[in-house]
Amino acid sequence: MAIGLGLDVGGTKILACAVTDGGELVAETRVDSPRSPDLLLQTLVEGTDALLSLLPDGPRAVVGVGVGVPSLVTSDGTLYESPNLPALEGLPVHAAFAERLEVLSAATGGAGRWRLVIDNDGTCAVAGEFVFGAARGVTDVLLITLGTGIGGGVVAGGRLLRGARGFAGEVGHIVMDPAGPACHCGRRGCFEQLASGSAFARIARRAAAAGAADRVLELAGGDVEAVRGEHVLEAARDGDRGALALFDELAHNLAVGIANLAEVLDPGVVLVGGGLASAGELLIAPTVADFAVEDRRGRGPHAVPIALAGLGARAGAFGAAALALGLVS
Ligand SMILES: [Zn+2]
Repeated sequence: MAIGLGLDVGGTKILACAVTDGGELVAETRVDSPRSPDLLLQTLVEGTDALLSLLPDGPRAVVGVGVGVPSLVTSDGTLYESPNLPALEGLPVHAAFAERLEVLSAATGGAGRWRLVIDNDGTCAVAGEFVFGAARGVTDVLLITLGTGIGGGVVAGGRLLRGARGFAGEVGHIVMDPAGPACHCGRRGCFEQLASGSAFARIARRAAAAGAADRVLELAGGDVEAVRGEHVLEAARDGDRGALALFDELAHNLAVGIANLAEVLDPGVVLVGGGLASAGELLIAPTVADFAVEDRRGRGPHAVPIALAGLGARAGAFGAAALALGLVS
């Protein structure tokens, strides 16, 4: 049995999981995310150290460490563009962390040199679903993660799609409406401006202000600005028509984006994960229905299945561990 350590750097926390090559979680811990380049390395070392100390049989079975970061990552492990951790831009994480890991491995009695992989968090998440989660056995996978923004990743022909520089799979920034809402990437109407968790909240506030989502507004205490996705979810679970219509609008945007990506990727499965995926069938059912209309092969024998991701918030850490184990590349 081999163990991979997977660290997923989020906006506020780093989730660290020790996972066997059979997909068993043997230890897990969380540390606060850093706010400066120096602190990132220190925090990664602390997180790794904390995780190692939780291993029931010590570090002997550990073969590597994988780190998922919310940033574009070049092929040599340098952070390129990191909207959530802007202070980390240009940081050669791989080189710097490898040096510290060598010390840590020696100090804790680890067996030899550990493999180290630094990758984009969306790429790690699809790696997790591909190796251990809902896409096991599928060679072509599209993962779309609906959170504050839209992340995701692609497996093509059984390998992670990385592109020429390591930047492939940024599914959140395909333009769906050139006249749509401004995006932090500099363009307008990106997928994540139309179908992310924050986009959903904006769609709901607009409906609440127009008097089309009274129950949602009531749940938000009558304050339009306080309307969040959770309020829509609660109202939709009670069967409120206004809330269900908001899910239909979100699902339509999601289906159009998936259809665009499916034209290029021809995935064997499309997985939807992230915070919004907690809506479950309230989101998936209308998305599947809309996709059947939007996608030219949406019906019949070549229909692409759309399903919920399987690993939840652990997808990124499990994928980082799978990369550390060398189970996917
Ligand atoms: Zn964008």
